[in-house]
Amino acid sequence: MKKLEPKGWCPSTLRPMMSGDGLIIRIKPSFSRLASSQAQKIAVLSKRYGNGFMDITNRGNLQIRGLTQDSYPLVLEELQNGNITKKNKSQDELNLILAPFITRKSQGWRCAKALYNIASAFPYLPAKFGFAIDCGIERYLCQTSADIRIEANNSGKLLIRFDGCDKGFITSEETFAIDILRALKWFVVSQNDTYTHKRMHQLVSNVEVPFTFRNTAPCQKLKSLTPGLQDDKIVFAAPFSQITTDQLMEIAGQTQEIIFTINRCLIVDKTVKLSAKFITSKDDFRYNITACPGMPGCSASSIDTKGLALKISRHHACLADKSYHISGCSKGCSTPKKSDVCIVGENGSHNLLQNGYAWDIPSFTSLSEAALINELINLQKTKKNAL
Ligand code: SF4
Repeated sequence: MKKLEPKGWCPSTLRPMMSGDGLIIRIKPSFSRLASSQAQKIAVLSKRYGNGFMDITNRGNLQIRGLTQDSYPLVLEELQNGNITKKNKSQDELNLILAPFITRKSQGWRCAKALYNIASAFPYLPAKFGFAIDCGIERYLCQTSADIRIEANNSGKLLIRFDGCDKGFITSEETFAIDILRALKWFVVSQNDTYTHKRMHQLVSNVEVPFTFRNTAPCQKLKSLTPGLQDDKIVFAAPFSQITTDQLMEIAGQTQEIIFTINRCLIVDKTVKLSAKFITSKDDFRYNITACPGMPGCSASSIDTKGLALKISRHHACLADKSYHISGCSKGCSTPKKSDVCIVGENGSHNLLQNGYAWDIPSFTSLSEAALINELINLQKTKKNAL
């Protein structure tokens, strides 16, 4: 199956995107956090002007869905007046994700502040271009989509690394801003006129990176993040990455801030009481399933991806040890990763493949929902028999 071309840009608050259920805007929380009052305000706006459903994205952003041409300007004004989003385009559209447990007094926090401050001085960058700040003693973000990674080496020295390169170069807080601008300049001048390489990893696989930019390895201690308790925090997820206004209100009413982080997880103080609607353990079967908005959220879909995800999550026999991706069409925008099982909607029925992407050639096509569930159970039985 041919991979559908992505739109090549992402929505922001200043640039809404039309979808099957109306306009979508994407809020990129500053420093990957929303204060409780900001989260409550967003929930109210989603209920009043949107359709009450919000998406949590791969890069820790929050999308309000279902706005209209008339309601969008009202929402934008309220977000800007509430200091939730920026009027400045460069700051509003900056793709920046911070390591999950970063503190306000850390070096990483100061680097994030510097990036917001110099965003207006950046050269033109493709819409998906982004930064990951991950300069603690363990790295959390190495699987997260980013083009420039701010990390530390084994001795704790600050490092800037281009995505796709094993090594980066040492910087310091004093020279950080200048070094970032230097790195961005290299990205721009190494392109051809048409900006063929929209992401850094594409560029570095085609153009030799000067040694001055790739001479120091980052620290090798890696850490992953899944739902569960971590020290004085709870890491949790909303099923299939969609949160309702009531759920957002429920969380915001019990905490001072919500951290938006990788793997579509949120982090709050462990004093927060979360209902069973949320995923608080990596063993929750719903956590194995990634689903795009599907029908009616996206006009490209002919299946109800979230409804199907819920049904599959109740068929525990299908799910053990498997990652699922349910995609409304072969564009596969909800995950860039391979999944053990991939279900793709086409003309109201389902295609199925294993160990691949939504755009790969399916092994089964045009399955009804009942036939699909049967095939999933068969796959699981085949696996058990093979053991
Ligand atoms: S993958 Fe899902 S969200 Fe993306 S275009 Fe297709 S149906 Fe829409």
